[in-house]
This record gives sequence, structure tokens and C-alpha cells, in this order.
Amino acid sequence: MSGPDAHPEQREERRFHGFAVSPGVSRGIAYVHRPGKDEVPRYPIQPEQVDSEILRLEAALGATRAQITLIQSQLAAAVGAKDASIFDAHLLVIEDASLLDEVVRGIDQEHLNAEFVVHRSASKFAAELAKLHDPYLSERSLDITDVARRIIQNLTGKAHPGLGAVQTRHLLVAHHLTPSDTASLNRDLVLGFATDVGSKTSHTAILARSLGIPAVSGLHGVEKLFQTGDDILLDGYRGLLVLNPLPATLLEYEEFSHQRARVEQDLSALRETASTTRDGHHITLAANLEFADDLPLHKLSGAEGVGLYRTEVFFFNRDSLPTEDEQFENYRRIAAELHPQKIIIRTLDVGGDKPLDSLPLPAESNPFLGLRGVRLCLEHCDIFKSQLRAILRASAGGNVRLMYPMVTSPGEVKRANALLEECRHELRAEGHAFDERLEVGVMIEVPAAALCAEHIACEVQFFSIGTNDLVQYTLAVDRLNESVAPLYEATHPAVLRLIKHVTDAAHAAGIWVGVCGEMASDIVLVPLLLGLGVDELSAAALLVPRIKRAVQTLDLKSCRELAARALEHDSAPENLKACEALARERYGELLA
Ligand code: PEP
Ligand code: MG
Repeated sequence: MSGPDAHPEQREERRFHGFAVSPGVSRGIAYVHRPGKDEVPRYPIQPEQVDSEILRLEAALGATRAQITLIQSQLAAAVGAKDASIFDAHLLVIEDASLLDEVVRGIDQEHLNAEFVVHRSASKFAAELAKLHDPYLSERSLDITDVARRIIQNLTGKAHPGLGAVQTRHLLVAHHLTPSDTASLNRDLVLGFATDVGSKTSHTAILARSLGIPAVSGLHGVEKLFQTGDDILLDGYRGLLVLNPLPATLLEYEEFSHQRARVEQDLSALRETASTTRDGHHITLAANLEFADDLPLHKLSGAEGVGLYRTEVFFFNRDSLPTEDEQFENYRRIAAELHPQKIIIRTLDVGGDKPLDSLPLPAESNPFLGLRGVRLCLEHCDIFKSQLRAILRASAGGNVRLMYPMVTSPGEVKRANALLEECRHELRAEGHAFDERLEVGVMIEVPAAALCAEHIACEVQFFSIGTNDLVQYTLAVDRLNESVAPLYEATHPAVLRLIKHVTDAAHAAGIWVGVCGEMASDIVLVPLLLGLGVDELSAAALLVPRIKRAVQTLDLKSCRELAARALEHDSAPENLKACEALARERYGELLA
């Protein structure tokens, strides 16, 4: 842990408790993201960063000068040199010594980031000129504002400076982050994030774990309370945010971090071992994938393949939908890197909390009950077919499986399969290779699908239980809403009975069944899932080693007894306690 060079003994330490959504501990300076309110980021820099910050400023000034000269020459060609000369005034702003001196002083003496001092100085100069009520000077005032905007864009690399604009390592504090905000975070610069709202099974939390960024959510009001530049410590294991940590707290966390590092090191030794229970039952242990670039982490995690590739993340933060060829290249590359391990590619699961900029859809008052997952794909067959074709083409190597999300009825599976069949015909006619025996599966994440599992099983070769949604829909508890988070109980007997129904139906039909929701990443709940008859667990890559350790210390007999008691029990908290007791007995050192 490293952090700001401050004098913690002079300030009051304050602690804020929320939900632990992504493990890890970090300390650093806060950057408070207030979209729309502070478009230009302000953050302190270290004294040793002054030279590089001035170089960054000079590069942005050079880029701005080149852009203005280009615009000027294009304009001169189009409308003549006279009109184009208005840009001479813009070029003069870049050379304005008094403005530039003030900007450099802000960086050098106040240790502030370049975009903020450019914004501050330019606003001050522009306001002074505007006050003089002289038409010529008013024009100059606008020139300054315009040029400053261009310099800031060149500094941040963005038309609208926002989340990606901060160029120094920081902890992000925000009221809310969308999944696409989270997908755009730079994991080298963002040491952790803390949000007012959010929950453990939100896609924002899932992406944080995937990126390996420690995170705490459900902190109620920290966005208003914190300032950019605050010294903070974030504990993503226990769901704690500490403002102005005192030396004693830092010492405690130093020790805690060493302990965790020792546990992680022990776990890394398990990479090449099998996830087999003490009594010899092999449980397939796969990892979920959100970013193609994360494959090296997957390989290190010791997973046996990818049990869920959330393809929608590839669709985030783009102006247009990816073409069939772009998708094919993405899926083909991942499948080739994983080969001979298997990858389950889930078809587009947008809607709910995952809107797409490139596919604007009418607002819905209950988006989680609306047009999401396979429902949306069946409404937009062109989008669906281009993805199905891309997945089929990527299957030529033989290690790809395909899975539909948010299925509610056998009819939906039949319609999706009919479109898949159409794609097969087209590809054969076009001479494209694909795996003729591609396995197709369905996510069971809606109670209706769980209850009709025996019918759905006739249409597919495997099931993967999406417990994040299954819990939300069974218990009528919004998975994103932190105010009902205590009611989101994965050990509720209703949820467990549905899971048991699904595993029984799958096995009766001779197909396998996995769990790819966050329950599979929770070491406390793993014994319960094994006892309920699950064949595969697909967890966050970061957590795979500890799930493997848990499986290796368990025996199926104890797990089945635990599950049998839980199915009969009427209390979710009691079920959870029983799971915790078994977990503590077998692998207590892994519980935070
Ligand atoms: C689930 O619902 O459990 C699941 C894995 O899908 P997602 O979290 O992407 O909705
Ligand atoms: Mg889901």
C-alpha cells in the first residue's frame, strides 16, 4: 500500500461502511466523479511529476497549434485566406505569455494537474476581458475559452473530460457507476472505487472483480461528503472506506495485506491441481470472462476454461454495433488462445442495467422485466443473426459452446434454435467452416425456466444457472437496489428448491448443469451448490483459486447432507449459518 504524503495524525479519521463488492485494499487520493458538475478534473500531482506534467501541457499546446493551423488552411482553401485569418487570434492565445506563465505556475507551485490550471487561468482571463464590454475584447474572451477547451481535450484525449480524464493514480468516488463506465476504467490508474449505490451482484460489481479493482458500494452519501484530493483507504474485503486513515489504521492494514498476500501465494500453488473433492468427485471449475484482454489472468487462475463470456461488454462504449466480422475476430481470437480449453459464449444480454449507446431503445419503467437478453435478440433478428453467425464461424476450432440468456420458455429456445439453424444453412452455402456439433445451452435465471427445466432440456445440451437473476426474480428483490439488499438471500429455500429442480431435470435428461452466477464465486456457498448436484462452477477468475481450495477440502457426502437440510429449512439466515460453519471448519483461513 502506498498513498499520499500527508500528515495523518493532524486529521480526524472517519469510517464508512458499505458492501464489499470486489476484494483488495488500496490507499491513495480520491477523485470524486460528479458527471456534468465538474467536467474538468482537478487533482494534485506529486512534486516529482511537475516536469512530466509540463511536458504533457507542451504536447497538448503543440497538438492544439497543429489542429488550428490545419483548420485554418482547410478554411483558406474553401473560403479564402481573409476569413481564415480569424484563426490567427486563436494561435495568439497559444502564444500568450501571461496566460501560459500562470498555467505553468499552477503546475509548478501549486502541484495541480494541467487541465485544471488551463481551465482556471483561461476562465479568469476570459472573464476579465468580457468585463470590459469592448466588442473586440469580448471576441478575444471567446477565443480564449475556445482554445482552452481544445487544449483540455488534447490533454484528456476526450471530447468530454470525465472518468478517463484523470492521468494519475487515484481512488474513484462516485454516486453511481454504470457497467459501461466501469468497463472504461483504466486499471493501472484506478486503484479502487467507492459508490453510494450498488450491490454485489450488479454488473458494475462483476466488472470490478473482473478488472481486479477493489471496490465498495452502498456507502450512502460519500460522493457529497468527499473531496477530490482526500486521503482515503478502501477495504474491498470488508466493505470499508476510511477517510484520513491514522497511522494505527495504516499499520493494521499493512499487516492485513501481508496476511492476504501469504494466502494468495499458497493458493497460486493450486494452479495445476484438479478441482476434485476429497471423496474423488471432479467438479469442472471454469472462469467468467468479460474482457478479451484478461485471458492471461484466466490462464494464471487455474480455471479449466471459460464458463461464461459476457459478450455484451464488447458492445459497450461504441458508437455503432460491432459487425459480424469484428465479433468473429473477437470470439475466434479468444477461442484460439484458450484451445483446447472450452469457452461458453453467451449471446447478447443487454437491457436491464446494461443499455447500449449504439442501440437506443425506448425507456422502460421496469427494465429488468422488460426487453432484455434473448427477448431483445428475438425482436432484433438481424442483430441476433449476425452474432450467431460470428459465434458459429468462431466455433470451427471445436472448443466453442453457445448459450442463450434470460430464457423464460421452451418456445423461446425453439425460436432461437431455428434462427441458429438458418445461420448454419447460410454459412454452409457461403462455404464458411464451423463446428457442426456445436453444443448449445440455456441460462436458467428465471423461475419459469427453472420450473420448466425438463421441457427446455429437450432443446439443448447443457444448462448454466444464472443465480444473480434467479435470486432477484424468485424473491422479487432488485439485484441493484441496496435498500433491499438484506432481502437478496441466495440461501432462501425457494431458490435452493429451484436449483435442485434444475439439476434433477438436467440429469434426468442426460445433460450437465453449471452455475455461472456470483453464487459460484462465493466460497461460503460452494458446499451448498455441490450438494444440490451442480457439475460445473464458473467463477470470477480472481476467485477461482480459492474456489478450487474449497472444493478440494470438501466431500460430496457432507455437501449433500447440508443441501438436504437446507431444502427442508424455512430460514435463509439459518441456511447461511450452516454453510458458514462448514466453510469455517474446512477452509476457515480463506474467509476474510
Ligand atoms: C446471472 O444472472 O447469474 C448471470 C450470470 O448473468 P448476468 O449476471 O450477466 O445477468
Ligand atoms: Mg443474468
